[in-house]
Amino acid sequence: MIIRLKKNTSSSKAEELSNHNRSILVFTNDQFHLVSSGNQSKYTAETEDFIDSIFQFEDDIQLASKKFRKEKSKITIGDISIGDSDKTVLIAGPCSVESKEQIEESASFLKSKGIKILRAGCFKPRTSPYSFQGLGSKGIELLEEVRLKHGLSFITEIKDSSHADLVIEKADIIQIGAKAMYDHSILKKCSKINKPVLLKRGFGSTLQEFVQSAEFILSGGNEKVILCERGIRTFETKTRFTLDLCGVAYLKEYCNLPIFVDPSHAMGYRYGVADLSKAALAMGIDGLLIEVHPQPEIALSDAAQQINHTSFNELLQTLKPIGKAVNREII
Ligand code: PEP
Ligand code: MN
Repeated sequence: MIIRLKKNTSSSKAEELSNHNRSILVFTNDQFHLVSSGNQSKYTAETEDFIDSIFQFEDDIQLASKKFRKEKSKITIGDISIGDSDKTVLIAGPCSVESKEQIEESASFLKSKGIKILRAGCFKPRTSPYSFQGLGSKGIELLEEVRLKHGLSFITEIKDSSHADLVIEKADIIQIGAKAMYDHSILKKCSKINKPVLLKRGFGSTLQEFVQSAEFILSGGNEKVILCERGIRTFETKTRFTLDLCGVAYLKEYCNLPIFVDPSHAMGYRYGVADLSKAALAMGIDGLLIEVHPQPEIALSDAAQQINHTSFNELLQTLKPIGKAVNREII
């Protein structure tokens, strides 16, 4: 339940009411709100005088719900806006920063194709301890260099709390990966910042659990959350994961947050990345997160799914008419 307090409620009064009602105090849309578990419908007698309106929910999808706020959030990064109904934002780049040369080649190519936001991991959440773990803080330095040189923004992942502060300080968008979706220390840290956070769906998570992770960030005061569907684990073994486009339709219908799709991790093989990108774009999503590498065959992580520059260029051309058909400019 969300209780919207009257506009003239002071912050000290709002805090007091929030304590008495065991609710989380959130300041959003220019007003204080008391957010408590969905089924709870009791509040102290004193609260009544301060109530502007009440929102009830059948589940704990609250701040992210269209029932609470119909309009989708808009997030500005540099000169681009994520969440506009007539734009779909492409974020592209390699799975990992591997070397100065590799990230420079990636950045200059993507910049030449009009891409504004570069993706690349530095702290990699690998399944095996023997796999490449990322360049760590050295990778962040390299991303800062290409950002400066090419005027790009970058998104990179927080894998665990050991480097959370560094990533939060340096990145333009913070990525919380599928494996970290339940990490409350990361979620809570990201709830206290004023930077955009792209939250990926855990591959074993329901939509309810996914959006509730987003609620951890929203309820701490950070409204800049982007949801990213990246495939879930099903009985299927021929593809790496299964892209849940039903889930995307659900999120579009019920949530007020921008929605991205990552076709690369869902598919796991480069041959399917273009088709999944087209299908997702046709649904009218807010953005795509695509893995692109100058030489995918020798990539140090996710080699099978990254597409090369020629394929990315072809993909861009095929996306344009689909964007047009659904009234979305690809930026
Ligand atoms: C990634 O984007 O490189 C990544 C590790 O993704 P995910 O968390 O979706 O597996
Ligand atoms: Mn990857």
